[in-house]
Amino acid sequence: MRLMSLFRLINWVLALVVAAMLWRLAGTDLAQWRQAEQGVQALQDLQRGLGLMEMISRERAPSFAVLGDIAPSDTAPQLTLTRARQRTDLAFQSLQPTPPEVQRARQVVEAVRESVDAMAMRGRVGDDAAKQGNDVGRLRDAVLLITPLVDQRAAATGTAFPALASDVSAAMLAADLREEAGVLGTWLRPALLQQRRLTEHELTQVLQLRGRIEARRILLDRHLGAHTMGPAVKEVRERLALGYFGRTQLELQRVIDAGMRGTPYATDVTQFGDIYVPDMAPLLGLRDAVLAQALNHARDTLQQAQTSLQLVLVATVLAALLLVGSMALVHHRVMRPLAATAVTIQALADGEPVAAWPAVERDDEIGAVLGAVRALQASEVARRALEQERAELIEQLSELSSTDSLTGLLNRRAFFAAGERELVNAHRHTIDTAALVIDIDHFKQINDSYGHAVGDQALVAVAGALQGQMRHGDLVSRHGGEEFVVLLTHCDLTQARGIAERLRQTVAGLNIATPLGSAFGVTISVGVAALDLQLVALDDLVARADQAMYRAKRNGRNQVVLAEELHDNSPGLDEREWRLALVAG
Ligand code: GH3
Ligand code: MG
Ligand code: MG
Repeated sequence: MRLMSLFRLINWVLALVVAAMLWRLAGTDLAQWRQAEQGVQALQDLQRGLGLMEMISRERAPSFAVLGDIAPSDTAPQLTLTRARQRTDLAFQSLQPTPPEVQRARQVVEAVRESVDAMAMRGRVGDDAAKQGNDVGRLRDAVLLITPLVDQRAAATGTAFPALASDVSAAMLAADLREEAGVLGTWLRPALLQQRRLTEHELTQVLQLRGRIEARRILLDRHLGAHTMGPAVKEVRERLALGYFGRTQLELQRVIDAGMRGTPYATDVTQFGDIYVPDMAPLLGLRDAVLAQALNHARDTLQQAQTSLQLVLVATVLAALLLVGSMALVHHRVMRPLAATAVTIQALADGEPVAAWPAVERDDEIGAVLGAVRALQASEVARRALEQERAELIEQLSELSSTDSLTGLLNRRAFFAAGERELVNAHRHTIDTAALVIDIDHFKQINDSYGHAVGDQALVAVAGALQGQMRHGDLVSRHGGEEFVVLLTHCDLTQARGIAERLRQTVAGLNIATPLGSAFGVTISVGVAALDLQLVALDDLVARADQAMYRAKRNGRNQVVLAEELHDNSPGLDEREWRLALVAG
């Protein structure tokens, strides 16, 4: 797998893992956030439910006031009642949509109001206290109708915020306490109003309620003592300890004692109410303070969940950006330059010119690699130049030396140097001299069939054969390629032809082995020319022999042709033209 693909794969896997982790985190945070939101909602609903219960209960006192020892024309209690009723109505409206139990509670409240208004219309009704107590007491039924709904909301709050369950219970207890304290007052009212003894039933109700109130107070203390409470809660608790649970309880005890024994009460219903009702108020204060504290806590939790969710989202975006960024970075600054460098190195290795060098953009690791490749290229260029120089030098050296490096024969330059001297001598002393130009037949085919190395071997073999047939003083040279020139002194044309023929036969008898085990033979074409008095220069002599050699080629190769015979059987073209035709073809 290519590095880039592997890198991409790893990046994708990494992205998936990170996404899965963040998804889980975000899921948890989202759940916490939703739960906190629902919790806050439930707490607010609970507050509204408790508020409604309170408002219904608080209609009780002004209702009694209107029915009590006050004339119907007395507008102050009537106004208080109207205000109380308005507050209750607002509390009902706050519970939207209205659940069925709330609707039923509303009907009960309406019925109580009608009955209270009817009794109030009849004027002073103080003597009908029992009926009043019963009718107004039905407000309690309305409260009880709402209670399950409120309990339900309290439970929902506890589920959303288990840490706040204790606070919610404390608030509920405080609300219950207020309700029961109110009901207790209602039971004492008729006896106080009529300044009579408590009936058996009234006494039972009062004592039961006192017992319940006491039990709830202990429970409330336990809840509130369980963890730290804010200053507002502390302050309300202190007021309650002095008020409702302090002097009011003493007053209550005195009223109950007198009501039980039938001794005169030290107080009338108004005086008692003036102490009792205001002292109950901090019970609701306590409920509200505890609920406010719980709500603050819930809002904090909601805020934390929101912040955490935002952080996770920011982290997600950041992680995604980093991943994409790192991929792009590696692609642009590592993979792409590497691929370009690979192409460049390959071009260098193949000895091809480098089309375009990858740009070294930055001073980083890839930049260092590119720099190193450039250095490599520079040294490669220098090496090639050196090699070229060396090859040229070798060529020059072999030109300068007198022997052919492959065959060990004289080279062209040495042949002409020595040959000129022989020719001067021959002219001076009239010595018969002849030249042979020898060319291997179809030598190109040998190279093509067996390779250049075998071709070289054949050249060496032919050179050896030529040299072997020479007498002392004869000059044998290689004039380049597969062409040899021989200068024979003290040798006339006839002798020269004999020697040439001998050479031809010797070469034709050679057997040249190939590396594969087979063997092949070679033939030569020989041109012979003898020196005459008109010919002074060696090149002229060699040229004539050369012409004869070309005739031998034309005549079918593997033969000896004398230059002297050329004009006798000319085919119409002169030798120079033949030679050109052969070279071209
Ligand atoms: P022809 O009979 O007409 O002479 O045909 P030929 O193939 O011998 O002649 P040609 O001039 O077409 O080819 C000569 C060949 O000799 C071509 C060249 O590659 C080869 N040659 C020249 N010098 C050397 C050498 O030093 N070693 C080897 N192995 N081959 C050489
Ligand atoms: Mg040849
Ligand atoms: Mg040739």
